[in-house]
Amino acid sequence: MYLEDVKKEDPEVFSLIEKETNRQKNGLVMIASENHASKAVLEAMATPLSNKYSEGYPGKRYYTGNQFVDQIETLAIERAKKLFNMPHANVQPHSGSQANAEVYFALLKPGDKVLGLNLSHGGHLTHGNPVNFSGTLYDFAAYGVEKETETIDMDKVRKIAEKEKPKLIVSGATAYPREIDFKEFAEIAKDVGAYSMADVAHIVGLILAGVHPNCSPYTDVITTTTHKTLRGPRSALILCKEEIAKAIDKGVFPGQQGGPMEHVIAAKAICFKEAMKPEFKEYQKQIVKNAKALAETFLEAGIRLVSGGTDNHLILMDATSLGITGRIGSDAMAEAEIYTNRNTIPFETRSPFDPSGIRIGTPALTTRGMKEEQMKQVGDWMVKILKDPENKQLKEKTKEQVKELCSKFPLNY
Ligand SMILES: *Cc1c(COP(=O)(O)O)cnc(C)c1O
Repeated sequence: MYLEDVKKEDPEVFSLIEKETNRQKNGLVMIASENHASKAVLEAMATPLSNKYSEGYPGKRYYTGNQFVDQIETLAIERAKKLFNMPHANVQPHSGSQANAEVYFALLKPGDKVLGLNLSHGGHLTHGNPVNFSGTLYDFAAYGVEKETETIDMDKVRKIAEKEKPKLIVSGATAYPREIDFKEFAEIAKDVGAYSMADVAHIVGLILAGVHPNCSPYTDVITTTTHKTLRGPRSALILCKEEIAKAIDKGVFPGQQGGPMEHVIAAKAICFKEAMKPEFKEYQKQIVKNAKALAETFLEAGIRLVSGGTDNHLILMDATSLGITGRIGSDAMAEAEIYTNRNTIPFETRSPFDPSGIRIGTPALTTRGMKEEQMKQVGDWMVKILKDPENKQLKEKTKEQVKELCSKFPLNY
């Protein structure tokens, strides 16, 4: 039986875990950063590996009894290097934000100039937002998207880089529906004497499957989460060139972290193995096909999409084109168990708490086996609710339809 010891020991927690699991099973997870990891990945995290202290690195630990943990971490490192075709991997970062903090800590001094994508144009908090440690400790300058195209103009990035002379240029995004030119980012960095970092947290799976241009041949350092399109445990990793490998490792431990989470590292090793399978490539291709099919449905309904569509796994919808806000739209859809998140859009005029946009992603539905046909169906349900967000009856009816669809594409949790 599922979690029998939790049930016996703490029925209160058990009941909430069960409710959350059922919410995921019976609802449509369309939050672009979420996914459903395999049972193998989840099982590895619920093991006694969680009990072990292993500060340091394989073969160089501060505690005894690490002979098996060393083999697990080495397996994860070797698989990561092979998967990304990079000479060095550090699999210890606990999260994407922490991985970024560790790279900054390794390569920069407080007050150093860094270039990153503006948050309201799709950048992540750790790319220099003033409320985040990154914007407080480092002197971030921003590049953004063009008003007309809502895409990044690499000539503009070059001009900003030449003017600002940063020590590090961060590429990658959290809400950008188009391809990122990692090669050009790395060339610009080289030309201005900066390190190049690609934060591929969102699109990592697409990159590994070859459905988004790769950064590995060009970029000095890559950071990524492992729980988004990579579909592994909630965690992260750093890959880098040999020249900075020592600095990066020191930046992680003892720079920012103590003991690594070896139960999560074991789960990362499993997800890397899963990502080497041919099915993973097919999965990533389908994610993009599904996002395009969904975008088409929205465009046909007359809804404005940022940059006019998508090349990747996510869509950024301008909800104000329907006369509503991102909050109203995402909350209304959540009542029908269609989960998305409100999001700022480029040149946002509203507040981050009630912004203009809704971010919608296809990785989780694609994991369930849904294809273009289901995207059209789900897209139609979404459009109906977005056009009539107060309609309780409609939301109730849609919730039932959602549940039925989910039962045809079950999660095996
Ligand atoms: C999600 C994300 C992160 C942060 O990951 P956490 O694990 O939530 O800390 C960092 N960078 C980008 C681009 C992201 O999308």
